[in-house]
Amino acid sequence: MQKDGQKVWSDVCSRLKLQISASAFRTWFSGSFVLDSKEDGEKLLLVVGIKNNFLKEQIENRYKDTVSKAILDSGFKDTSAIFVVANKEPKTDSIKAPIFTGVVQEVITAKTRLDSLNPNHTFSNFVVGFSNNLAYLAATKVAGNLGGAYNPLMIYGSVGVGKTHLLQAIGNQVLSTVIDAKVLYVTSEKFTNDFLDSLRNKTQASFRQKYRTCDLLLVDDIQFLAGKESTQDEFFHTFNEICLSGKQVVLASDRHPRDLGRLKERLVSRFLGGMTADIGLPDLEMRTAIIRAKCAERGMHLDPELVDWVAKESTGGVRELEGILTSMLAYMKINAGKASFEDIKLAVSGNKPSLKNPPTPGRIMEVVSKHFKVDSITLRGSSRKANIVQARQVLMYFLRTELGLPLEQIGDITGGRDHSTVIHGVEKVGRLISANQKRKDDILRIQSLIHA
Ligand code: ADP
Ligand code: MG
Repeated sequence: MQKDGQKVWSDVCSRLKLQISASAFRTWFSGSFVLDSKEDGEKLLLVVGIKNNFLKEQIENRYKDTVSKAILDSGFKDTSAIFVVANKEPKTDSIKAPIFTGVVQEVITAKTRLDSLNPNHTFSNFVVGFSNNLAYLAATKVAGNLGGAYNPLMIYGSVGVGKTHLLQAIGNQVLSTVIDAKVLYVTSEKFTNDFLDSLRNKTQASFRQKYRTCDLLLVDDIQFLAGKESTQDEFFHTFNEICLSGKQVVLASDRHPRDLGRLKERLVSRFLGGMTADIGLPDLEMRTAIIRAKCAERGMHLDPELVDWVAKESTGGVRELEGILTSMLAYMKINAGKASFEDIKLAVSGNKPSLKNPPTPGRIMEVVSKHFKVDSITLRGSSRKANIVQARQVLMYFLRTELGLPLEQIGDITGGRDHSTVIHGVEKVGRLISANQKRKDDILRIQSLIHA
């Protein structure tokens, strides 16, 4: 089985080489290998190891469709691929163990070319409590009655509280209960890029076909529509068409639509025309429930004292909670029963100062500018001097990896640069880190200052 998986992946890679440039292939896929493969009837799931998290995220964000297409073109239509971070091929089962228990894994299949849903985001593993029960109830109602309950359903709340999870849970539920449902999950950034591409390539008809004919359109992070007038107009029409034909729209935003700013009034009133449900930060009781659920999901037992400690320590969103828990479980695993509770607590709080001080663009700018001794006006200016260009690229890299800002916004922050310059900068730093230990140390130092 292992051998078949390898063969399938190398066929897929040969296809990929035809679709992307040689240098892009080398950068992103050259170190990939099949860590494991699983057969389920006709279906084959490839677990592909990728050297580090940066590469994995880039592949998932940028090459998902390309990989799906390469899989299809290679004739393996029942094959899917999951990417996991791994350094070398596993020799023992102990390395394999965590692979299928990871929390966020993107599955790429022919089908998910359209819906892009993470299968781990379901209602059944969504912990419900005081902060999210309204959003949860509305979401389950919508999933059971497309176009008939509330249209649109708009979920809003700060980062890491479960908006994407809930949006995708609706999608997953509909896919598993409604035969041939056409579910489309996109971020508003993807919607924008698709729309602009369709204008550039004169493919508006297929763009509309894709977006206006789905049964369920899930649009995540709609705050990124702010200020994009023509995209907003297109979105308005997409929205109307779907609602008019009795289909469903669900939206997520990091703030209330009224607070989005630079959003056309007619769009705001459309957004508010259905049901608006917010998700708040989880309270202590819910944090405890989430920790228990996440441990159970991973088949791990955590002493009640540590459960309490994590629940009290982490006062942000669920993503932050998962982050602490993951480092804690990893530390415990490495130290296999030898670490005291105090050691564990110390290691986790020492490693994650970020949890107390979430970075902001301003903070990142300040740290990068101090490190390179280049002031922020010069960083945003037009100088092409080597050290300034390098500082600017490091700034782009952190705005992307630490905050996940959209490329355009990073372009704005770094002095009005276009998105291809930003991609180039981010990739360049990524390559330097994987090739050069000294650069990597520099970057890690800057990263720790950002969180200090
Ligand atoms: P957001 O989109 O609001 O930034 P996400 O939906 O990405 O947040 O959630 C961050 C992480 O926390 C994800 O791994 C998600 O599965 C998990 N998560 C969030 N809320 C819950 C919950 N109520 N129960 C279980 N997991 C949750
Ligand atoms: Mg999200």
